[in-house]
Amino acid sequence: MPERESTVGVLEPETRKSTRTKVGFVSLGCPKNLVDSEVMMGLLAEAGAEITARAEDADVLVVNTCSFIESAQQESVNAILEMAQHKSAGRVKKLIVAGCLVERYRAQIQQDIPEVDAVVGTGELEQILAAAGIAQPRAAVPHSPFTILQSRPEGAARAEKGRFSRADWEGAAASLPQYLYDESTPRLLATPRHSAYIKIAEGCDHPCSFCIIPQLRGKFRSRRFESVVAEAEGLARAGAREITLIGQDTTCYGEDLGLKDGLALLLERLARVEELRWVRFLYAYPNKITGRLLEAMAAHEKICSYMDVPLQHASAAVLKRMQRGGGAELFLRSIEKMRRAVPGLTLRTTFIVGFPGETERDFEELCEFVRAAEFDWLGAFGYSDEEGAAAHALDRKLPRPEIERRRKHLMKVQQAISRRKKKALVGREFELLLEGESEESEWLWEGRTAMHAPEIDGKVYVNDLGRHAQARAGEFYRCRVTEAHDYDLVAELL
Ligand code: SF4
Repeated sequence: MPERESTVGVLEPETRKSTRTKVGFVSLGCPKNLVDSEVMMGLLAEAGAEITARAEDADVLVVNTCSFIESAQQESVNAILEMAQHKSAGRVKKLIVAGCLVERYRAQIQQDIPEVDAVVGTGELEQILAAAGIAQPRAAVPHSPFTILQSRPEGAARAEKGRFSRADWEGAAASLPQYLYDESTPRLLATPRHSAYIKIAEGCDHPCSFCIIPQLRGKFRSRRFESVVAEAEGLARAGAREITLIGQDTTCYGEDLGLKDGLALLLERLARVEELRWVRFLYAYPNKITGRLLEAMAAHEKICSYMDVPLQHASAAVLKRMQRGGGAELFLRSIEKMRRAVPGLTLRTTFIVGFPGETERDFEELCEFVRAAEFDWLGAFGYSDEEGAAAHALDRKLPRPEIERRRKHLMKVQQAISRRKKKALVGREFELLLEGESEESEWLWEGRTAMHAPEIDGKVYVNDLGRHAQARAGEFYRCRVTEAHDYDLVAELL
């Protein structure tokens, strides 16, 4: 599903001179890809490599790519070419390409970019050790949770209809990724210590016609309940105070393990981990938000009253062509239900505008819906025509400038809503997680409240530390909102 812009990530502070192989990482795309990078860095560090933040110091460079839409693919190729220059310049001995682009263009990458020494798909993260020339992959554990136990019936049915087929993808491996890390897999966090992602599931069984993630990432599969809990406890012991659960669709969590309301059960269990203060999840599928999940959110203070539900559109006709279902009326009813069940709920969504066949009327319906729903956060993406996605074969494609006009217009509609909603927060008090000094100015700090998911939402700038002589990143404070902008807030510590 469409998400935030790519991030180039990572790593550890520079360390002393060492003879260990130095590995540098560029991590592109979404937090799910970031977790894959963290796992690969963990495996490499455990095997004795040193992770470096400076490409020019690296012996081995890894680019973990995104291939969700064309612009992400282009950005990935640019990053590979940029890193290839370090190899041409001499010091870097190996260039490895990992991630979704490998699942799509495995053969072409090596053919067209001769500087690339090895490729590592999303289902073979442990191969990073051999690719970097550091070690052989760890031996498989008997009864490993890396092995898919069973599919959801929807997944099996969609497989039969060819949803996961790569037959038309020249140069791609035919087999789908099956890998899933577990709590014993080493992971080197690229996020600040106080906030970590946990990937609770991988792959996706949904039929959305614009999306190739199921072909890229494989069938939906959940990590075992105990494995997620053990990882969360380990992260909490190491200093994490906020855990964000991610997956292509977190609301299906546990269905393949025979769990009913698996996400609600998992959140409730994580809310009992003493050191954690905030537990949240991203990427809910609209018709998978159950009453039980809402009850869990309402009942536990530690479960953030925050829901990210990508709706993609509001016109029933467009949603049908997207193979998603639903419509404005149904969505408004379910939003009302969510808000009734979880008071103070923060609601985020994303939309795709300019989908093939989207009429002016469909688009106006979407704008009307956005005005009525009053989301707290909204992302709008212009439709991107992906070869291999079912929507590629649809007629009535819209010209690029028109798609962009609609995207901008929708963001303008949301801007007014956001401004009004942020203004209503002035004078109110919240718990704030201080993230660190602001990049904007040395006089400002930045933080987030439970209404702000990491990296994706607006910011809270702190311009007054109140009674605190000093403030510390990673600590929680009480704050009062003193100013509101279109998307960001200004607050003072109390
Ligand atoms: S639900 Fe699955 S198929 Fe639909 S947009 Fe998200 S990842 Fe793609």
